[in-house]
Amino acid sequence: MAILNSKIPEGPISEKWTNHKSKINLVNPANKRHLDIIIVGTGLAGGSAAASLAELGYNVKTFCYQDSPRRAHSIAAQGGINAAKNYQGDGDSIYRLFYDTVKGGDYRSREANVYRLAEVSANIIDQCVAQGVPFARDYGGLLDNRSFGGVQVSRTFYAKGQTGQQLLLGAYSAMNRQIHRGKIRSFTRHEMLDLVIVDGKARGIIARNMVTGEIARHSAHAVVIATGGYGNVFFLSTNAMGCNVTAGWKIHKKGAFFANPCFTQIHPTCIPVSGDNQSKLTLMSESLRNDGRIWVPKKKEDAKAIREGQLKPTDISEADRDYFLERRYPSFGNLVPRDVASRAAKERCDEGYGVNITGEAVFLDFDSAIMRYGKEKANISGSTNSSDNEIRALGEGVIEQKYGNLFQMYEKIADENPYKTPMKIYPAVHYTMGGVWVDYNLMTTIPGCYCIGEANFSDHGANRLGASALMQGLADGYFILPYTIGDYLSGDILVGKIPNDTREFIAAEESVKNRLEQFISNNGSKSVDSYHKKLGKIMWGKCGMARNKKGLEEAQKEIRALREDFHKNVKVPGDLYSKNGELEKASRVSDFLELGELFAKDALEREESCGGHFREEYQSEEGEAVRDDKNFSFTAVWEYKPDISKSKLHKEKLVYGNIEVKTRSYK
Ligand SMILES: Cc1cc2nc3c(=O)[nH]c(=O)nc-3n(C[C@H](O)[C@H](O)[C@H](O)COP(=O)(O)OP(=O)(O)OC[C@H]3O[C@@H](n4cnc5c(N)ncnc54)[C@H](O)[C@@H]3O)c2cc1C
Repeated sequence: MAILNSKIPEGPISEKWTNHKSKINLVNPANKRHLDIIIVGTGLAGGSAAASLAELGYNVKTFCYQDSPRRAHSIAAQGGINAAKNYQGDGDSIYRLFYDTVKGGDYRSREANVYRLAEVSANIIDQCVAQGVPFARDYGGLLDNRSFGGVQVSRTFYAKGQTGQQLLLGAYSAMNRQIHRGKIRSFTRHEMLDLVIVDGKARGIIARNMVTGEIARHSAHAVVIATGGYGNVFFLSTNAMGCNVTAGWKIHKKGAFFANPCFTQIHPTCIPVSGDNQSKLTLMSESLRNDGRIWVPKKKEDAKAIREGQLKPTDISEADRDYFLERRYPSFGNLVPRDVASRAAKERCDEGYGVNITGEAVFLDFDSAIMRYGKEKANISGSTNSSDNEIRALGEGVIEQKYGNLFQMYEKIADENPYKTPMKIYPAVHYTMGGVWVDYNLMTTIPGCYCIGEANFSDHGANRLGASALMQGLADGYFILPYTIGDYLSGDILVGKIPNDTREFIAAEESVKNRLEQFISNNGSKSVDSYHKKLGKIMWGKCGMARNKKGLEEAQKEIRALREDFHKNVKVPGDLYSKNGELEKASRVSDFLELGELFAKDALEREESCGGHFREEYQSEEGEAVRDDKNFSFTAVWEYKPDISKSKLHKEKLVYGNIEVKTRSYK
């Protein structure tokens, strides 16, 4: 069994990373060309890591299941990326970003990692600007910022509502340069299905070519997992349909510990679920909360009349609207962190104030922003006698410039014009703070196996602040892993090429084939999706925004039973050696069915509420989360056992020497 050693360096927090970098072993440039690295996943984390490691001289092989790295889920990121640049002169600093992130995560993240993230954040923006990423600029040509939840400064860099796409194009161009140099071999439409361990070290992977079905062995001196989050364990989420836990779960089964699986982020501003046949949810970026105001009617009868189509939101007078976030959290208002905003919306809807047919929606209203911007513009152009309609048109122009693509997306999906009537939004599963446990060097408990980006658990504690995922993925990929992996690889320079015909590789390949063949030859009758949907219902109902002991105990049993049923009765048409989407799904869902049980177990064991983990038994009279620092100030780190109910819990104690641990307040 691996020993949990977070390898946090000694010394003052502001010097840890600099000192660590200067002391770790580096690989001599001449030796790097003898070292091979496999990177599974080419989203922002994996793509940036691949480009940087290849630039350093290592031989890199990348794998992704899309037909191009450009299509990784990172492309969906809308709102922006944080960095402590203090361009607005509003008092931002490395310490403040560190403080906001630890507080936002409800004091459940590792202090040293978060400080390093804040330090590195500024470099990311410089790197991306150098690559040509078209960040928004103000009238004078300087980089612009906007605000995200849980902070009182403006530190979010953005490219309209397409920040992830633009950053990914930057990383992809950098990757392409290395592909052209022959330093990266890119395997697209390939899915990693197992990790190969030789003499206790990660030495390769087994991957399936998703077009031909061919299963092949790939060897390397180190393996990096950068496969994103597992929000799709809930079936419905804002994640791309393909997002999965397979790589993280496979390495977990081979010895990598899994941390805080139950820490999930429910995002407050998503387009509400419309019916039972839906398979995807769409995010409306948090950046909209810069200008949008969230409300429900003050009177239940008004809410009911809106639900029944007898009243329109515009019929409700200002006095009859409850801007519940501004009422409950006057200092942060609509910009409270996501967990807080989500719970407040759920509370209003549970009380009967929901505004769509299902009763599960609140309004996100841009009317006052449109009028405010319109008046500002009218003043600038000197047309102070403009009519309300003219002012509105000017204001709509400003909103269109800032969020045009998001408004268009909303209109296409909801068939309502958000410039004229408020958007309807409701919380939905969005991001997973939990993930593969890594030490300060981003190495898992398997020597030579690293994990970066959303796939690891590292920096966000029990709740991630908006615009911090892109920051973390790129910090890991561009600036942290390229140093820390060298420390490990410096011990491998004399090892030579890793052969892929050893018994470990052959056995791993056989086991992948057998597993997939079992799905195909299983003469069941039920579709993979039917199981995924059922799992999602259990997860959302019993492990979702609010959890309690009884529900979590039931969830574990129900998931176990569902998993058994799945393996007996699932039907997977087609064959192994050709393109087979149902087979891919079956393999992913079977991993979700195992992870789901550990998720519920983790949530049950954590008898406190913190961040996105809300245990109904542990709440204040006002419905706020109540932490138990005495007993639960630790990262829950799970060791795999074939009977998941017997998974072994290790605790990484969280020590805060540079921040006062308090009850979170956004009032
Ligand atoms: C709608 C939406 C909007 C968001 N907006 C923001 C935002 O504005 N700001 C912000 O900071 N964060 C945002 N986030 C979160 C952020 O986008 C993600 O956390 C981040 O992009 C994850 O990057 P990643 O590189 O870790 O993983 P991903 O981008 O998910 O990439 C995963 C990679 O792994 C590959 N992969 C997965 N499994 C396998 C396998 N078994 N074999 C081979 N390859 C595999 C995939 O092909 C892909 O290349 C948003 C998230 C969503 C859902």
